Amino acid sequence: MAENIKVAVRVRPFNEREKTMKSKLCLQMVGNTTTITDEKGGTKNFTFDYSYWSHEGFKSNADGYLEPTDSKYADQKKVFADLGQGVLDNAWGGYNCSLFAYGQTGSGKSYSMVGYGANKGIVPIVCERLFQDIDKRMKEGNKAEYQVKVSMLEIYNEQCRDLFNSNSFKVKGGLKVRNNPKKGFFVDGLSTLPVSNYADVERKMNEGTRNRTVAATQMNQTSSRAHTVVAINFTQKSPNKEGKSMTKTSIINLVDLAGSERANKTGATGDRLKEGSAINQSLSSLGNVITALAEAAEGNKKVHVPYRDSVLTKLLQNALGGNSKTVMIAALSPANVNYEETLSTLRYANRAK
Ligand code: ADP
Repeated sequence: MAENIKVAVRVRPFNEREKTMKSKLCLQMVGNTTTITDEKGGTKNFTFDYSYWSHEGFKSNADGYLEPTDSKYADQKKVFADLGQGVLDNAWGGYNCSLFAYGQTGSGKSYSMVGYGANKGIVPIVCERLFQDIDKRMKEGNKAEYQVKVSMLEIYNEQCRDLFNSNSFKVKGGLKVRNNPKKGFFVDGLSTLPVSNYADVERKMNEGTRNRTVAATQMNQTSSRAHTVVAINFTQKSPNKEGKSMTKTSIINLVDLAGSERANKTGATGDRLKEGSAINQSLSSLGNVITALAEAAEGNKKVHVPYRDSVLTKLLQNALGGNSKTVMIAALSPANVNYEETLSTLRYANRAK
C-alpha cells in the first residue's frame, strides 16, 4: 500500500431507526480485516490500514465523552492518535495533507471529522493541537514566526460557496475556480481568515457550520448534499543558519464529503437527481485520483492523475500526491439494512490501496 495514503474504516453503533427495524449486524472486524456478511451468509473480506470498531464497548463519562471499555474499541482520541497526529507532523514538515471522510449519510462522517459535544473529532483536535504546539515552541524561545489562516467552503452541484461569507451564496454559478501557474487551482474571492488561537477557529467553524446547506432527502431529514472543505493554511517563517528568513507553508485540507448514497435509492427526481449526479461525479473523480496516485506510488510512472475532472479534485490537487499525505476514513453503518451501501463504501475505500 502506498506509504502516503492511509485508509481507515470505522463502524458506528446502531441508530434508533436500525434498532426499531430490528436490523442485524452485518460487519465484523478482526485485526485490520473487516468482514461483511450478506443475507444468505456469504462473506467478503477487506483489509485496511486501520479498522475501528466503534460499534459497542463504550461508556459515557461525566462530560458525555464516550470512553472505550477496552483498548480494542476505538474512541475519538485513538482515531486522532492514529490519523490526525501524522497529519500534524506532516504540516510541521511543510507538506500538504488531505483528510477525507467517506460514507453514506448517517454513517458517522461528521462524528469522525467534527465530532459531537465532548466527543470532538479530528478537525477540532488538529486545530487545538496545532496552537498548543505553536505556544510550546514560542515558550521554548523558538525564533520562528507562525501564521495560521482558515477557509471553509462548500461544493454543491459542482459550485463553490464560501461558508464564511453568506453573500457568496447569491453568486450565480458559485465562486469561480481559477488556475494559477504558481499556486494551481484556487477559488477566487474565498475568505481566508487569520486565526490566532483555537477559540478563534472554533468560533469561525461554528459560523461556517451554521451556513452549511442541508437539504432533506428521503434517507435522512438533514442529510448533507454538499462537500465541506476546511483548509488550514500554516506558515512558518524562521531564520536559517545564515540568518536568512525561510518560509515553509503547509495546507491541511479536512474534507467532510457529501453522503455517498446513490441517487436512485433515495427516490430522487429533479433537483435531487441533479444533486445526486454532481455528488457522484466528485466522489468518483476523487476515487479515480486516489487510485491513480496509489498506482503511481507502486512505481507505475505512466499513470495519468485525472485532477481536472471535478471541482473537488482540482482544489485538492496541491494536497494529493507527491509528498502530501492523504488519509481516508470510510464510515460504516453496522446494520444489514444498509448492506449495499456499506459494501459500496468498502469497495471505494479498497480502491485507495
Ligand atoms: P454523517 O456525517 O455520515 O451523516 P454522523 O456523523 O452525523 O453521520 O453520524 C450519525 C449519528 O451517529 C450521529 O448521531 C452520531 O453521533 C452517531 N455516531 C456516528 N459515529 C459514531 C461513533 N463512532 N460512536 C458513537 N456514535 C456515533
